[in-house]
Amino acid sequence: MKPVIRLSQTHRLKGLLRQLSLNTVCEESRCPNISECFGSGTATFMILGDTCTRGCSFCNVKRGNPKGPDPEEPYKLLEAVKRLNLRYVVITSVTRDDLEDGGASHFAKCVRVLKENLQDIKVEVLVPDFGGSIRALSVVLDSSPDVLNHNVETVERLYPRVRKGANYGRSLELLRNSKKLAPHIPTKSALILGFGETWDEILKVLEDLRSVDCDFLTIGQYYQPSLRHHPVVKYYTQEEFDRLKEIAYSLGFKYVASGPNVRSSYRAFEAFIVQ
Ligand code: SF4
Ligand code: SF4
Repeated sequence: MKPVIRLSQTHRLKGLLRQLSLNTVCEESRCPNISECFGSGTATFMILGDTCTRGCSFCNVKRGNPKGPDPEEPYKLLEAVKRLNLRYVVITSVTRDDLEDGGASHFAKCVRVLKENLQDIKVEVLVPDFGGSIRALSVVLDSSPDVLNHNVETVERLYPRVRKGANYGRSLELLRNSKKLAPHIPTKSALILGFGETWDEILKVLEDLRSVDCDFLTIGQYYQPSLRHHPVVKYYTQEEFDRLKEIAYSLGFKYVASGPNVRSSYRAFEAFIVQ
C-alpha cells in the first residue's frame, strides 16, 4: 500500500503547485529524491520565477530574462505550506542579477509571511550570492530565517566552467558575513561532486567552509540532466562519500549529509534538529 499513498501525495502536491503557480527546485532540477520528498510532503520552493539570469553548466533551470517578482507569491507560498501542513520549509530562488536587491526583499517577505502566520514553522533560505551585496544579505537575515544556506557547489578551479558568473571567494564571503551579521543563525553549504575535481581540492573546500564557520554541509553526486550539460567526469562510491563525511565531522561541521543522491535540501530538517 505504501507506494500508492506516496503516489497520491505526489500528485496532490504537483496539483497544488500548478494551481498556485508555484515552482519547486525539485521539479526544475529533476532531483532524484522527488518521489521520497513529495511522498512525505516535503518540497523546496523556488521563488522569483523559473528563469535564471545565470547559466551554470550543470543546472537544468532555464536561462533568460525573468519577469518581475509576483507580489502575491509570499501568500501563495503560505497557502501551499498550510495546505500541505509543512513544518520545515526550504525557500530558494533562481539568481536575479536583473533586480536591484537580487530579490532579497522578496525572500524576506516570504519568510515574514510564513513566520507571522504559522506558529512553530521553521524556514531555511537557500540564497543566491546577491552579487556580493552585504546589504541584500542583511535584508534576508533581518527576516529571521532559521538556517542561511548558500551553496559553493564545486571547487574553486572549476568555477569558470561550472558556475560561470559566480565567484568562489564571493560565496565564502557571503557565508562569513552571514555569521558576522547574525551569529545565532546557522549557516549551511553544499558541494556537488563529479565535475572533475581532485580529492585534495574537495578537502580544501571543506577547510575553506570551516574557516568561515559554516555549520552544516551536504555532499552529493552530479548527474547530467541532458547531453548539453556538463559531463559527469567521475561517479563517487558510497565509501568515498562516507570518508568525506568522516573528514567533514573531524573538521568541526555540526551536521553532514553525504551520499550520491544527497541534495542541498534533502532531509533539511535533520541538520536543524541536531544543532
Ligand atoms: Fe541554476 Fe542557480 Fe546556476 Fe541559476 S545560479 S543556473 S538557478 S545553479
Ligand atoms: Fe526537493 Fe530537495 Fe527533496 Fe530534491 S532533495 S526533491 S530538491 S526537497
